[in-house]
Amino acid sequence: MIKDIFDLIEKEKKRQDENIELIASENFVSENVLKATGSILTNKYSEGYPAIRKSGNEGRYYGGCQYVDEIEEKCCELWRKVFNTDYHVNVQPHCGSSANFAAYFSVLNPGDTILSMSLNNGAHLTHGSPVSFSGKLFNMVFYEVDQNGFIDMEDVKRKALEFKPKLILAGASAYSRTIHFDKFSKIAKQVNAYFMVDMAHIAGLIAVSEHPTPFGYADLITTTTHKTLRGPRGGMIFCKNELAKKVDSAIFPFSQGGPLQHVIAGKAVAAEECLLPSYKEYIHQVVVNCKAMSDEFIKMGYSVVTGGTDNHLFLLDLTHKGITGIECQEMLDSHHITLNKNCIPNETRSPKVASGVRIGTAAMTTKGYKEKDFIEVAHKIDKYIDEYMKDKK
Ligand SMILES: *Cc1c(COP(=O)(O)O)cnc(C)c1O
Repeated sequence: MIKDIFDLIEKEKKRQDENIELIASENFVSENVLKATGSILTNKYSEGYPAIRKSGNEGRYYGGCQYVDEIEEKCCELWRKVFNTDYHVNVQPHCGSSANFAAYFSVLNPGDTILSMSLNNGAHLTHGSPVSFSGKLFNMVFYEVDQNGFIDMEDVKRKALEFKPKLILAGASAYSRTIHFDKFSKIAKQVNAYFMVDMAHIAGLIAVSEHPTPFGYADLITTTTHKTLRGPRGGMIFCKNELAKKVDSAIFPFSQGGPLQHVIAGKAVAAEECLLPSYKEYIHQVVVNCKAMSDEFIKMGYSVVTGGTDNHLFLLDLTHKGITGIECQEMLDSHHITLNKNCIPNETRSPKVASGVRIGTAAMTTKGYKEKDFIEVAHKIDKYIDEYMKDKK
């Protein structure tokens, strides 16, 4: 029944309104992003690329594309402006995973070697997990983090020299510290590898210079648009101009069909919002809030992986609290606090159980939370964990 679906959407809306949302990859889009993404553009087929695009793949397979052509070109232009770059950009990827799929295949063949971050230490599934296409199609080798949880650049160099990868990947889903793209790029040059950055989580910080930029260093840059960039669910690929044709072909016709023009319009609106001074203030507040909350946990005697954070997320190591990541996630869910379990460096439990949780501040900062609000939430979490452990005994 159609009504049942709309009833469920209302219930989900209420859940989103009432819960404390700490999932580091989530955010709340604006009314304008929602409006564009929910528009009649969903009716339009537009396989191919705008007629005025000059990557060698221009031209659509369908008529009636004059308006979506303008929207897609405008979207590309706006995102280049957000990242202050002249890189080529493809805004058609349906999500971050399909952006990574196409980015790999723009320069690699099955069986080629990719050097990426080890999965237990914060990488994404598409960075070589055996359950993902990446782990099945490529020869994945991994660099590790040091004892304190920081990316071990010496290990990156050692593995690069040992395995001679065709591509080196930087970027993560659960890494709370600055990633030094300049150092990665130097190593990639040394071994003649492509350098790719997956900035899905930190793209918003990069857009306003709260994190060093990969532009100028990386050959390929992928991102999602729905995390810190606060746009609709989707992906994008940026690349050096000499790779433009390869990247465009790797999206269409290689791995996708018709682009989601309603989502591309939503991405364009999100880009306009990222260019506003209020977005810069927002991201700054996200970072300030994250530090305030992680500092508070440390004050209360918790162990924070790497001892703190430079970005919008941090990892709580719950080992000495005696509660597992999954228990903590489920227990907090019952108190309307949403977060996710996460492996910690040198994890001893299975990823389904995990010894830590990941906490992010992007979503609640959108709702107006300041430092004092996040400090209050930290104390709530501490109280609930204490109560849970007492009940367990
Ligand atoms: C979220 C994420 C992705 C994948 O995004 P989806 O849109 O969920 O496919 C890829 N890479 C990283 C680093 C991510 O954090």
